[in-house]
Amino acid sequence: MKIGIVGSGYVGATAAYALVMRGIGHEIVLIDQDEKRAKAEADDIFHAVPFASSLNVRAGGYHDLTGASIVIMAAGVNQKPGETRMKLLKRNADVFRAVIPNILDHAPDAIIVVATNPVDVMTHFTARIAAERGIAEGRVLGSGTTLDTARFRALLSRHLDIDPQHVHAYVVGEHGDSEVLLWSLVGVGGVSVEDFLRARGLEITQNDKAIIDEKVRRAAYHIIEGKKATYYGVGAALARICEVILNNQRAILTICTPHSEIAGVKGVTIALPYLISSEGIIGSLPLTITESETALLAKSAQIVRAAIDLLP
Ligand code: ADP
Repeated sequence: MKIGIVGSGYVGATAAYALVMRGIGHEIVLIDQDEKRAKAEADDIFHAVPFASSLNVRAGGYHDLTGASIVIMAAGVNQKPGETRMKLLKRNADVFRAVIPNILDHAPDAIIVVATNPVDVMTHFTARIAAERGIAEGRVLGSGTTLDTARFRALLSRHLDIDPQHVHAYVVGEHGDSEVLLWSLVGVGGVSVEDFLRARGLEITQNDKAIIDEKVRRAAYHIIEGKKATYYGVGAALARICEVILNNQRAILTICTPHSEIAGVKGVTIALPYLISSEGIIGSLPLTITESETALLAKSAQIVRAAIDLLP
């Protein structure tokens, strides 16, 4: 099973490394306009194979995507000092206009997983290009809030002193400042968090919630302040998305995909919990959330919709 990665920068290369370390797929092809970088990353990551799983990693061109089950789109340009969001979006849209048709030409049956930020907007744009070429809905998805959901679960599990595997919680909406932590749906091992807290003699105060919220929502800012970029977390999230697709795991992930309407906002791409299989997106969860959470989700959708309107 082949996985193509277009964009061998920090995010693309780290996703490849996470795939190798977890033994997901059989072959990884790294593509970048900077061919030297793609080759260097492929060689470096390939040298980890003897310590991990038997997998081939190489650099290539778009023709090497033939037969790929998944293509991760991690190519893009970085914001220049003083550059407006609109200009950055326009430059990234230019990259996508050039790259996505190449992917679709060579791997029309692949599921495309978009990682480039702003991921909701870039996923919307990719889905639009794919639809122009008759690609079925559900075969383009973005990493959305997969990582934010993981951060939320990790922080909750630390607070509750329990394995994160037993914590169910979702972050939905924009992958960014307006994302929504769905406190009303937090569950532990099949019971509500309130019952779990009572049984364990624990509590989560408003202040604890505010701290967790800040650590999830502002994580990228804190990390970028310390090391200029974030990539391990998102690389692992991308590997997990690939694992679910390749193994037809039918897992629930908070990926993003276009919606005809969400919380009253029409034609928008934001993250919600979706059921994912080898076919891509096969269903969504009926969410029963509070009025205030719905209002926050609507606000988040409006923010992303306004950015989508900036697309060429
Ligand atoms: P990130 O931290 O998001 O990974 P990087 O700048 O490290 O950001 O990586 C982005 C990568 O995308 C770079 O390696 C860059 O060469 C690549 N890239 C940009 N535009 C294109 C394009 N049109 N085709 C292929 N790769 C591209």
